[in-house]
Amino acid sequence: MKIPIAIPYLGKEEAQSAYDTILSGWVTQGPRVEKFEEDFANYVGSKYAVAVSSCTSALHLSLICKNIGPGDEVICPSMSFIATVNAIKYVGATPVFAEVGNDYNLEISDFTDRITKNTKAMILVHQIGNPGDIDAFQQICNNKNIALIEDAACAVGSSYKGEKIGSHSELVCFSFHPRKVITTGDGGMITTNNKDYYERLIRLRQHGMTINDRDRHSSKKIVIEGYDEVGYNYRMTDIQAAIGIQQLKKVDWIVEERRKIAKKYIVALSDINCIQLPSEPEHSIYNYQSFSIYIDATSPVNRNELMQYLLEKGISSRRGIMTSHREQAYEYMEVSLPFSEDQSDNSIILPLYVTMASSDINYVIDNLRALLVEKTVKLSTS
Ligand SMILES: *Cc1c(COP(=O)(O)O)cnc(C)c1O
Repeated sequence: MKIPIAIPYLGKEEAQSAYDTILSGWVTQGPRVEKFEEDFANYVGSKYAVAVSSCTSALHLSLICKNIGPGDEVICPSMSFIATVNAIKYVGATPVFAEVGNDYNLEISDFTDRITKNTKAMILVHQIGNPGDIDAFQQICNNKNIALIEDAACAVGSSYKGEKIGSHSELVCFSFHPRKVITTGDGGMITTNNKDYYERLIRLRQHGMTINDRDRHSSKKIVIEGYDEVGYNYRMTDIQAAIGIQQLKKVDWIVEERRKIAKKYIVALSDINCIQLPSEPEHSIYNYQSFSIYIDATSPVNRNELMQYLLEKGISSRRGIMTSHREQAYEYMEVSLPFSEDQSDNSIILPLYVTMASSDINYVIDNLRALLVEKTVKLSTS
């Protein structure tokens, strides 16, 4: 494959940091995790940050923090990575899928229509890093006493109304999977300004233990821990955190570079009538975690033919964001979401990573134009 879909931006600094941690003798939930949490909270502008094993576990613990359980309905988009809805099932609550708009984020009137007396929470996904309208949803949630949890898996480094994602609402969940903007291999973070949530999250991620390893380690007296509620092993290791500390130093630069590449695509493809390009809402800075384009019915080729053609040219692409309600795990819900289905079926994600050479960006652009504008190529198979 000539051009992959994504490459994580990891260098010697991350390798050295991991190496030093391994030799330090403290390899899980120790001083590096604490430092990564402090740095992350400072970066997004929240009071607290709690490192966990993934964004999926971050979402799970956030729902527990809000005491969401059986009988409660939680609204979320179907058009998202399936982890969003899975977390709702983990707490035994009932997921309710709502439609998205053409920015791939929850559509506010459809969301409002699906609120019932049992709606206790919603998960606002900042899809592929494009910030949703937090204030608009927060206002509805406040009026109806609904907990708002942000799924910011893809939104590290994005901003809403001049502030970084992670500072706005009570519980914001991030991912450090390699497909996201910064990575720790695997990993997640929850940011909050609420001290009670912070303290509960710290216990929940480590089996419900009432004293953490750092406090025990530094205590002058013996400590016997308790377990007040059922917890989980959702720890982040210090090796991951050491990588995260280095990644966080680079995040603003990474976002800037991603935005430059996105702008290049947008400028070069803007005159192609059959594709709809991503756009940045006025109130936001979008990190372009993924660059997704929508292919409309006037296109000379369909979405799969386009993907096949790019593949034959050595260019990786991915289908658009999935819909969860059409996967076997959620088919029982028997919902129909025509707009999400259409967006999902007719979108593709193009390669975008900070080390992508200009010649490679141009090669992707030229091939798209040859097929969709100049129509100088024929598909090898149909
Ligand atoms: C990637 C992703 C997740 C899951 O993140 P993990 O860290 O892999 O658990 C959740 N929600 C969305 C929207 C994602 O894109």
